[in-house]
Amino acid sequence: MASPQRKRAFIGLGSNLADPDAQIHKAFAELGKLPHTRLLAQSSLYRSAPVGYADQPDFINAVAEIETGLEPHQLLEVLLDMEHRHGRVREFRNAPRILDLDILLYNDLACHERGLTLPHPRMHERAFVLQPLHEIAPHCVIDGHGPVADCLEKCADQRVDRICG
Ligand code: AMP
Repeated sequence: MASPQRKRAFIGLGSNLADPDAQIHKAFAELGKLPHTRLLAQSSLYRSAPVGYADQPDFINAVAEIETGLEPHQLLEVLLDMEHRHGRVREFRNAPRILDLDILLYNDLACHERGLTLPHPRMHERAFVLQPLHEIAPHCVIDGHGPVADCLEKCADQRVDRICG
């Protein structure tokens, strides 16, 4: 259980370059070492087809649950820094990437601020986020969209394969 100052957050992870499985495993470990942060759960790894720009390798995706004392913008900042340290270069929208980290949920906070939208604005329509999230938090509810299981049902046409635990 999170202490009063600590919040529970879910982080979406994705990679399709430079040994994606290793990138995700390394990122899980690094999430647990962020300041005032503990890794509570990590999902299996899943493989999904790229969205938006098809001429690139499949993605490896996962979701982590953390407990953190970082405020949402501080958390975003350290995640962007982690992406940078993994060697991510921002080329164009939906480009291949070494590591993508998104804040999916931060407690039950709903916000629409410059540079930060919570819940993540596209999470409810992406099976590659919903499936790993459902694995570690089956009863989770996405503000404005309902239970994760219901959102996942609406994405039944999107193929996502669980590849390892
Ligand atoms: P991308 O790496 O393409 O997913 O985009 C990252 C940018 O999206 C960041 O620079 C953030 O300012 C912005 N953003 C807005 N909401 C979120 C969120 N919930 N999680 C991560 N990035 C977000």
